[in-house]
Amino acid sequence: MRLLPILLFVAVAVVLLLPLLRRMRVRVRSAPRALPDELVKDPVCQTYIVKSRAVRRTDAGQVRYFCSEQCARLDAGG
Ligand SMILES: [Zn+2]
Repeated sequence: MRLLPILLFVAVAVVLLLPLLRRMRVRVRSAPRALPDELVKDPVCQTYIVKSRAVRRTDAGQVRYFCSEQCARLDAGG
């Protein structure tokens, strides 16, 4: 019988993988979806980025969004 070790291996693999799969499902379910993916324009490089992931800077009461810290710094520096 050559099948027995293979079957045992598959059984062990399934037992080990099931908790991992369950954890992944829980993560997907509990992932926050509060903010809608609104697009904003980076005034420095003219790139559109997702608002929830953009770098936010408040400048004289006006909120500006940048694609990266680098662009935020460039804008602040003039
Ligand atoms: Zn940019």
